[in-house]
Amino acid sequence: MKDLFKGVKKFCSEEYGRKKKLFEELKESQAPHTLFICCSDSRVLPDLITESLPGELFVVRNIANIVPYWRESDEYLATTSAIEYAVLALEVDNIVVCGHSNCGGCKALMNPSSTGKMVHVAKWMELAAPVKEAVSSIEYEKNKQVCAEKENILQQIKHLMSYPFIKKRSDEGKINVYGWYYDIGVGAVYNYDWEKKEFTRI
Ligand SMILES: [Zn+2]
Repeated sequence: MKDLFKGVKKFCSEEYGRKKKLFEELKESQAPHTLFICCSDSRVLPDLITESLPGELFVVRNIANIVPYWRESDEYLATTSAIEYAVLALEVDNIVVCGHSNCGGCKALMNPSSTGKMVHVAKWMELAAPVKEAVSSIEYEKNKQVCAEKENILQQIKHLMSYPFIKKRSDEGKINVYGWYYDIGVGAVYNYDWEKKEFTRI
């Protein structure tokens, strides 16, 4: 196992020093330009793939980059509250929903029995149920998985638009909403082109 403590010591003695000025500027507040919603997958690193610095991205991660549809509730809604904070308090300019290749969450969606005892994962993935229907006619299994990963990005953007304050800002041109697909093995990121209705490589 990687020695995490060693990593922290190296960060404190080397990387922090290199970015000392930036960390000092950030110590009292943050003003990220982008809310970045991505999967918890260890291979998806938003700061790395966008070459962003601390303070730039407000990141929300969960299984399969899901956005729960809008509802007022007295439950403890982690993703919804983070989205609310990013948009209403931090007033981000952009929202990126970033899916990725070989997504375990999308695999679970396509094959619910694979979740076994992970009842909460199975339940969580119900938020992407329309995706399964949308790709049901695709025969080749590998294509089906990739299409589900891409379709899921668009489905979660639909959910984002159910948030009244996001819909309003989007309609007024005050916030940009992007759907991205990160292909891990290739090192490529694709942005959804709403006119062409396809993902095009950035
Ligand atoms: Zn994933």
